[in-house]
Amino acid sequence: MTAALKALSSIISKSNIDFLKAPKKLLIDGKWVPAASGSTFGVTNPATGEVIAQVAEGDREDVDRAVKAARRALEDGDWSRMTPSERGKLIWRIGDLISKYKEELAELEALDNGKPISVARAADVPLSADMFHYMAGWATKNEGKTIPLSVLYTPGARYHSYTRPEPVGVVGQIIPWNFPLLMAAWKLAPVLATGCTVVLKVAEETPLSALRLGEILLEAGLPDGVVNIITGFGETAGAALASHPGVEKVAFTGSTEVGKLIVKAAANDLKKVTLELGGKSPNIVLADADLDVAIPGAASAIFFNHGQCCCAGSRLYVEKKVFDRVVEGVAEYAKKIKVGPGLEPGTEMGPMVSPVQHERVGSYLESGLKEGAKAVAGGKKREGKGYFIDPTVLVDTKPAMKVIREEIFGPVVCAMPFNGLDADIVRQANDTIYGLAAGVWTRDLSKAHTLAAQLKAGTVWINCYNIFDSALPFGGYKQSGWGREMGEAVLNNYPETKPVTVRL
Ligand code: ADP
Repeated sequence: MTAALKALSSIISKSNIDFLKAPKKLLIDGKWVPAASGSTFGVTNPATGEVIAQVAEGDREDVDRAVKAARRALEDGDWSRMTPSERGKLIWRIGDLISKYKEELAELEALDNGKPISVARAADVPLSADMFHYMAGWATKNEGKTIPLSVLYTPGARYHSYTRPEPVGVVGQIIPWNFPLLMAAWKLAPVLATGCTVVLKVAEETPLSALRLGEILLEAGLPDGVVNIITGFGETAGAALASHPGVEKVAFTGSTEVGKLIVKAAANDLKKVTLELGGKSPNIVLADADLDVAIPGAASAIFFNHGQCCCAGSRLYVEKKVFDRVVEGVAEYAKKIKVGPGLEPGTEMGPMVSPVQHERVGSYLESGLKEGAKAVAGGKKREGKGYFIDPTVLVDTKPAMKVIREEIFGPVVCAMPFNGLDADIVRQANDTIYGLAAGVWTRDLSKAHTLAAQLKAGTVWINCYNIFDSALPFGGYKQSGWGREMGEAVLNNYPETKPVTVRL
């Protein structure tokens, strides 16, 4: 056992110590196999920087094997002959098994991603189970329509037309590291509900919970090859999947920058693409808001998951009359957050996921302060072991600053005052290349709904933030993406709609 695993053995369960001890392989065609190259890479605990597991480094050849397995599973009949009800029960069983192994999964998530185990227990794991439970119900509801025709150039002829929703084919999915298990659940559950097969490329920073999910899929009885899981790097395995000619559809969650590369890679053979990308979400506090709710709400909108949320409320606009009070309140909240290793009891914010993210967030802080912003809480990255950043509240920012224009993906909020509810605040809120989410805090229903309609954001939360539910569609305007995840809307991502017309 490595020293890092030995140190962990007093904090995490025996089953996870055993899980981490064995080198992790790729799931291809129902079997755990090493990478064709034999290469592996180390997965680190971001609270210490220590390597906790070795994982297969999948690449082009492995992606190719996985795509072929997914094609066979799509076409050989075991999967397509399953009745919708059988498929629904299988998907439900996956949700049940996630609930059964919830503690183990929460530990893995806290260890690998760095998030507090309390958050993984309360959010990541139950939401993942719920996504499968919710999608299980849709497996029996892939219905077409009958469509009355009035074909003008064949007078007197009668036609019977109906649509068939058919699986688009083999799907390539690529997911990020901020909610590793949940992103896998968001992606896999609708694919299974619509009868497609899939190759999932998980993030190199956080592969562990998805690999454990792979074991759960097999335990639930998923036929071989329906879901294949590849661990490896974005520029190699990810790029190979996004451009593989055997993949009909690519679904990606991650940065806008990589989203554009995915579109280019998929363009060669015009694969269907859906994208859930970055954000720079405005969170607007009006003077009439219940500040006892709005202040902790605005703080949690940015600090939840260390600000490593694509929808983080990172631009906080506060009506002038209450600006000082709100900023003071959010800064107090930030200063009280207990930052530490995710597995330590009482931790409220863990480390950034990797040294790269630690550096990246740190350099945004430096750039903001250099350009004239002032930190009223935090303001720097911590040095020493682990990738920790102090929760930060910046004021005195200007619209052109990098910290306002670019996604930081860390616990950094920029607070700005505005004068009354007029067109200008809507313009400022919408003045971004992104359009993923927005928050509004007010007691005035009319203002709330007027703003909700004017904000160019895929999701608007009023007097709340980060409220997710498997039934709610999630996705973005502008450069925040194409299409929607979750809810009934995600089902549009995977079927092809085929009209069939019969002359009677
Ligand atoms: P983040 O900025 O949140 O780290 P990325 O967009 O870089 O997110 O990564 C999200 C996912 O995209 C990861 O699984 C990563 O391996 C993958 N990825 C990164 N670069 C590429 C690429 N060029 N082609 C395909 N996938 C990629």
